[in-house]
Amino acid sequence: MRLSRYFLPILKENPREAEIVSHRLMLRAGMIRQQAAGSFSWLPLGKRVLDKVCHIIREEQNRAGALEIIMPTIQSADLWRESGRYEDYGKEMLRIKDRHERDMLYGPTNEEMVTEIFRSYVKSYKDLPLNLYHIQWKFRDEVRPRFGVMRSREFLMKDAYSFDLDFEGARAAYNRMFVAYLRTFTRMGLQAIPMRADTGPIGGDLSHEFIILADTGESQVYCDRHYLTLDVPGADTDFGNDAEIAGIVKTWTTPYAATDEMHDDAAWNKVPDAERLSARGIEVGHIFHFGEKYSKPMGAKVTGPDGKGHFVSGGSYGIGPSRLVAAIIEASHDESGIIWPEAIAPFHVALINMKPGDAACDALCEKIQAAYEKAGRDVLYDDTDQRAGAKFATADLIGLPWQVIVGPRGAAEGTVEVKNRRTGERDVKRIDDLMTMVEKAA
Ligand code: ATP
Ligand code: MG
Repeated sequence: MRLSRYFLPILKENPREAEIVSHRLMLRAGMIRQQAAGSFSWLPLGKRVLDKVCHIIREEQNRAGALEIIMPTIQSADLWRESGRYEDYGKEMLRIKDRHERDMLYGPTNEEMVTEIFRSYVKSYKDLPLNLYHIQWKFRDEVRPRFGVMRSREFLMKDAYSFDLDFEGARAAYNRMFVAYLRTFTRMGLQAIPMRADTGPIGGDLSHEFIILADTGESQVYCDRHYLTLDVPGADTDFGNDAEIAGIVKTWTTPYAATDEMHDDAAWNKVPDAERLSARGIEVGHIFHFGEKYSKPMGAKVTGPDGKGHFVSGGSYGIGPSRLVAAIIEASHDESGIIWPEAIAPFHVALINMKPGDAACDALCEKIQAAYEKAGRDVLYDDTDQRAGAKFATADLIGLPWQVIVGPRGAAEGTVEVKNRRTGERDVKRIDDLMTMVEKAA
């Protein structure tokens, strides 16, 4: 992609409304545009990152056996009356009427709708387990939308819903999502710690929030440092093996970790001083077992092996992709801008032409761009006639993992400069060596 043909509305000044670094950098890097309180458009650079985040989430949901669907954003109030939540849900729910004066709402979540789908088709335990998910916009009329896409009113959510015959099955389904989440966040370059969360009237211990440590986080969290060194399950994890999956969950739930609301002083005091980590955290995912909460009032029953009808046991599993983009920036930036982890970087490399119009520079840039693209790596080619300082500042701000700098002297000598955005290391490389490196990476 040529920068001259791209839409990258960079802001030079720090936007005054942005209180935290991710919000500031997303606005400055032209990733998002605020449209109303807590409502944002995603501009080309931001949309690329959001798509990459969703792609990883999707791969890991699919690997864990969940099936993707897509449900509407606008829902009928009648469905929510069945579960009793139409009355219970507070002002966070945006309620609307259609032209026939029918009560509708913009979905803040989809338990009712997915239960309606389930009960319409699934009648036997033989069709279980089942886990359906979608990645869809939600609306919650938050009291205090703030921090940009971190807490917005309209936001993207991956929400999965599991259906099982009994508690044992539901626990296995919960465990699969737990492990899928560990893999998902790690692939994005994040260290997410599963922390015990409130189960409310449901009881039990099957509720975890996945928390990223960051100074700007809204939650106060407490955990054992041990989490920072635990191994994350690999791609070869067998999601069909309940015992293996349960073992991983055991390892990841044994050291102490809790958010403020679940914090237990007695247990915390048993963690050795040097291992205690008390910090701020951002909730990027939440998994929750709710049993028959929806299946009972909504009549979602299957016939069991005993020939009798059983209300299915369920759970829901959320991740906020739009919040994640901000959380990743909170975890990975410096004073010059964003530093994208490779897996979700909008482009792999910023190719900087120091003298557009110079035949040698232009030819060399085009050759390098073609080589990267052949290797399946996205290039943002800065072919604009901005001055060098501005080009470097833009490249640092938008945080692509690599910068390849092509100037007339190097072009004549057969060299380019390669900068690693994370380490700041700069290397002069022979063009042939760069080409070989790019080909090998393919
Ligand atoms: P929070 O405690 O932060 O308000 P929640 O507990 O209400 O979140 P869930 O219902 O568990 O959120 O939603 C699942 C995921 O959706 C959250 O883990 C988070 O990543 C994301 N999410 C929830 N609310 C928002 C929001 N207002 N803006 C952006 N992402 C959100
Ligand atoms: Mg939550």
